[in-house]
Amino acid sequence: MEKIYNEDLKLISQEYSVRNLFNNEFERFIIEERIDPITSFKIRINKSIKSKPRSYKEIHTKKSKCPFCDPDNETPDFEFSKKIYIGDSVLFSNKYPYGKYHAVLVPNYKKHVKSFSQINYLDLYNSFMLIKEFYERIPEGDYKYLFINLNKGFSAGASQEHLHFQILIEKEPTNYFKIYLDKSNKYFDKYKKFFIEDYFNFEKQLNERIIFDGLIKLWSSFAPFRNNELIGYVDTFGIFFLSQNKFEEFIKNLYNILVTYEKLYENFNLVIFDTTLLRESRSYPIIKILQRPLFDIGYMEICHLEYVISSIPEETAKEFKENLEKV
Ligand SMILES: [Zn+2]
Repeated sequence: MEKIYNEDLKLISQEYSVRNLFNNEFERFIIEERIDPITSFKIRINKSIKSKPRSYKEIHTKKSKCPFCDPDNETPDFEFSKKIYIGDSVLFSNKYPYGKYHAVLVPNYKKHVKSFSQINYLDLYNSFMLIKEFYERIPEGDYKYLFINLNKGFSAGASQEHLHFQILIEKEPTNYFKIYLDKSNKYFDKYKKFFIEDYFNFEKQLNERIIFDGLIKLWSSFAPFRNNELIGYVDTFGIFFLSQNKFEEFIKNLYNILVTYEKLYENFNLVIFDTTLLRESRSYPIIKILQRPLFDIGYMEICHLEYVISSIPEETAKEFKENLEKV
């Protein structure tokens, strides 16, 4: 839908539906995307959600059993695929999707685990194998933006405490990554170099925020959006292009980073934007991790899109680096 006042004032929206298969019955979700005429940011409305828990009280007092401990019976299949199992990991359709290809990935469903220290390297390895299997099964070829997301802890937005990733495969980049990719493309046109790589190399010269310089490059953000925010990239054109040896090294590095992060900062959000499916991308896969204690955002973040934090990036880098070395 497009309602046009003039060239610079338009109300744009589009709608699509997603179907899940749960208990032998199809569940249909209508998802609407709208573009904010002021910022051009996209927002999503899942018009079919009626029963998702919305208050903390409801979540914490809920006595019902954990659906992720019994995925066979308690979680939905995709319309185009049954749930996928590898080892103790499982991937299935999100019960409350807000994208056409929106999966939940439980690294270990055999134990009710809440943190990365309770799972092992193999669980994380199998989880990434499931992501590969998932994108290979997607029936539409023009969905190329692969986002691996995580809310760890209720304060970070998780509605189930059982450790799980959310995998979104999108046709268009999300707001933040659209800005990032536009920047990277313009940068490449001008300098014939990758922005993120130059950002890291510049940080290396300055040597104030660098944490890790291996297959994963990791540093603390110069201007973070949340406390103890880390940013990094994987030194490859796509995670799933890595050779077996390199892939194992990547999982090992990532596992160490996640265990260290939760040990230091407990609850957090994570996104990995993987570029495997993008041809001629001007970026490597990006990683962002941000701390999320309760009550950490308010009017500045929501109404002003301006972030107020209290951690000092240079101190975060030092602290994280010291602790990472101990793992
Ligand atoms: Zn569980």
